[in-house]
Amino acid sequence: MSLILYRKVPKTGDELSILGFGCMRLPLKKGGGIDEERAIRQLRFAIDHGVNYIDTAPAYHFGRSEHVLARALADGYRKKVRIATKLPPWSVRSREDMDHILDSQLTTLHTDHIDYYLLHSLSGTTWEKMKNLGVREFLDSAKNDGKIKNAGFSFHGDVASFKEIINAYNWEFCQIQYNYLDEHNQAGTEGLKYAADKQLAVMIMEPIRGGNLAGQVPEEVKKIWEGSMVRRSPAEWALRWVWNHPEVTVVLSGMNDEVHIDENLRVADDALPKSLTPDECAIIARVRDTYLRLMKVNCTGCGYCMPCPNGVDIPGCFSLYNAYHLFPRDRSAKFQYFGRHGGLLSSVSYAGLCRRCGKCTKICPQHIPVPERLKEVSNEMEGMMRVVVPVLKGGLWCMDKVGHVKRRFAFKESQR
Ligand code: SF4
Ligand code: SF4
Repeated sequence: MSLILYRKVPKTGDELSILGFGCMRLPLKKGGGIDEERAIRQLRFAIDHGVNYIDTAPAYHFGRSEHVLARALADGYRKKVRIATKLPPWSVRSREDMDHILDSQLTTLHTDHIDYYLLHSLSGTTWEKMKNLGVREFLDSAKNDGKIKNAGFSFHGDVASFKEIINAYNWEFCQIQYNYLDEHNQAGTEGLKYAADKQLAVMIMEPIRGGNLAGQVPEEVKKIWEGSMVRRSPAEWALRWVWNHPEVTVVLSGMNDEVHIDENLRVADDALPKSLTPDECAIIARVRDTYLRLMKVNCTGCGYCMPCPNGVDIPGCFSLYNAYHLFPRDRSAKFQYFGRHGGLLSSVSYAGLCRRCGKCTKICPQHIPVPERLKEVSNEMEGMMRVVVPVLKGGLWCMDKVGHVKRRFAFKESQR
């Protein structure tokens, strides 16, 4: 049996496996829906090999992920792991909703406490909303009642908002998107170090950018990997790069293939902080530079151009536009765009809101002609958005009676 590495949560000393199991991309059956028996086998296999941090959310698999995790954690497995799950801000209209959703999650997960409880996918605007609804008091009270052990948040905004949220509550942990392409995107390296300096554990999502940094990579990138003295898969390179940072606590991998689980467990055996050699770091830097050159817009995500007076999330729009072109086989970038910028999961911030005032262009250190490039983004990314988003808002993301996001209509009825 392999023995994977563990890292400590700074504020509590809790020892977590450096590899966490993400339940957002569980294996699917041919006709759709989770292949539950296979998912349970995979989860238990990972736990048997040392994984002790499992991440889920009501939004994953349209509310089914938490149910499958509860089944996997029967037969004595619950006590071997820490469960992380999330409060969906888009389902919250009042302070009472927060209690209601948490209670329903405890029921669904067949447990009396959540070990790591996160506010799901915060940005500056969603944090403002949750703060005004009393989420800090809710977290305090849930901790006092023993319903949650550690409070945190996952994040997809800009680094300034990230720091503001870090400083607004006594969090034990946070969860950020981080990989060698996103060093300067969203929270990025600056946010990672900031959180670690404040003694927060940092959980990493998208270490392989949703699988895009593995599998069929661009030909130029493939040649660089093949020229390395050390032979590793692109996925292993990506994971080792994240674990090389001592500030990282857990890396979440959305594992749904036995071969990937084996590989991830093997890498998690010896991926110590600062274990990559200078030559290895140089290889990764060359791959990163190649990806950046292949990108449509040379936006580093620095956020100097923000806030836009018309509400455009400039770096966010460019980031998903780049992802859409870098990884043409993966169509999820467009749906993420609808979610993050089209008003599905937070307030609208899409490229088409630009009124060409020119404020951002004067500031941008990369000299990007922002309004012109946003026009391209709008043309390519927003065609279906005006049709799809209202339909999805009407029903797809409704909260059902037990607080789970559910694909259905009758929004008002399902709220209470
Ligand atoms: S030019 Fe467009 S994106 Fe830039 S600040 Fe003005 S409205 Fe915002
Ligand atoms: S200032 Fe330029 S590089 Fe920085 S986020 Fe804005 S558009 Fe991107």
